[in-house]
Amino acid sequence: MSHFALHDGLLHAEGVPLDAVAARHGTPCYVYSRAALMAAYDDYRSALAAHGVADRSLVCYAVKANSSLAILNLFARLGAGFDIVSGGELARVLAAGGDPGKVLFSGVGKSRGEMEQALAAGIRCFNVESASELERLNEVARAHGARAPISLRVNPDVDPKTHPYISTGLKTAKFGVPIEEAPHLYRRAAELPGLKVVGIDCHIGSQLLDPAPAAEAAAKVVALADRLAADGIAIEHLDLGGGKGIRYRDENALGATDYLAPMLKVLSGRREQLLFEPGRSLVGNAGLLLTRVEFLKYGTGKNFAVVDAAMNDLMRPALYDAWHDIAKVSHGDTPPPTHSYDIVGPICESGDFLGQARDLALAEGDLLAVMSAGAYGMAMSSNYNTRPRAAEVMVDGDAIHLIRRRESVAELFAGESPLP
Ligand SMILES: *Cc1c(COP(=O)(O)O)cnc(C)c1O
Repeated sequence: MSHFALHDGLLHAEGVPLDAVAARHGTPCYVYSRAALMAAYDDYRSALAAHGVADRSLVCYAVKANSSLAILNLFARLGAGFDIVSGGELARVLAAGGDPGKVLFSGVGKSRGEMEQALAAGIRCFNVESASELERLNEVARAHGARAPISLRVNPDVDPKTHPYISTGLKTAKFGVPIEEAPHLYRRAAELPGLKVVGIDCHIGSQLLDPAPAAEAAAKVVALADRLAADGIAIEHLDLGGGKGIRYRDENALGATDYLAPMLKVLSGRREQLLFEPGRSLVGNAGLLLTRVEFLKYGTGKNFAVVDAAMNDLMRPALYDAWHDIAKVSHGDTPPPTHSYDIVGPICESGDFLGQARDLALAEGDLLAVMSAGAYGMAMSSNYNTRPRAAEVMVDGDAIHLIRRRESVAELFAGESPLP
């Protein structure tokens, strides 16, 4: 069931017509469906139950996909853990009521301050990404009189067949340690008094549609766990990362049950806890970006619809050449003529587009919905061109909750001062 659908010629989020959101909170505005978020989380939990591993698995939402407090709070209430990549994200998780005992800390550049903050919070595991990080974490933990729980992020060198910017598990990636070096590094970690080895971690990329590479990576992780056990190093959990793809256009994106099947086959009969770190697949299709057409421009080669959202609000088209469906909110009885438009923002960059060559029947003032914008949308937004960031609302049935008010221009330079 889609949580965004046409009723009486008007695009709705659950029971709310999107023109009502625009009238109340203005545009540009991110709109999320609470039911869609819950359904996406439930898809994972049901899949894990269907495969008989529900009681030994934990879904740790990758906060970087969308770090809005209301979304974190919703997942926390559903029992999720969290995968974080900064001290700032840890602060958000705690502010949203997340359980620090279910937090995994990933990322290649953890500072001492971030390590201290995470140790004080009592997180579940540090996903360590280099030999130097092991040594630093050991020092910080000892200074705290603590033992830091760790897993090593191993790089299994499998090709996830996705966009190069979001592929992370190849030998050439900056992430993780080569899996061949892992036994040696685990032996070192086991010697260090400030560390406690608890797991193995891998994450091979994002927007993965084929389940085979993830299963291949899992097989390498399992082989490593067995090798470590033979060396006397016991592994409590296997963290299989995130990366499951979603449908933006016509991709054949599998549900969690089908996507996880090959991987869980590899993992069947094992005792370890299983951790997953989905980001995009929990939030991507649960959000859209609502924007209004300011001007239509008809050129010799191209037509443009200039809208009030821009690359600072949704960077994916400019950054990855990503494709998002762009739909009209209102479908009246006598639509204007259809033309091919590039949907562009007001920012002074030629790369500032949300979509290109879209056949749409547009009039100035129309509302448009940029679909599947729940992941890596608001979270990657910026204030480029001194543009306040968009408002965010969560729809729940017939209710519209403002979960983040629109920024004001004054807030944007509140921390700045002119020269004396
Ligand atoms: C980004 C990231 C994820 C989430 O990836 P998705 O493709 O959004 O599911 C999970 N784990 C790590 C370590 C990441 O960097």
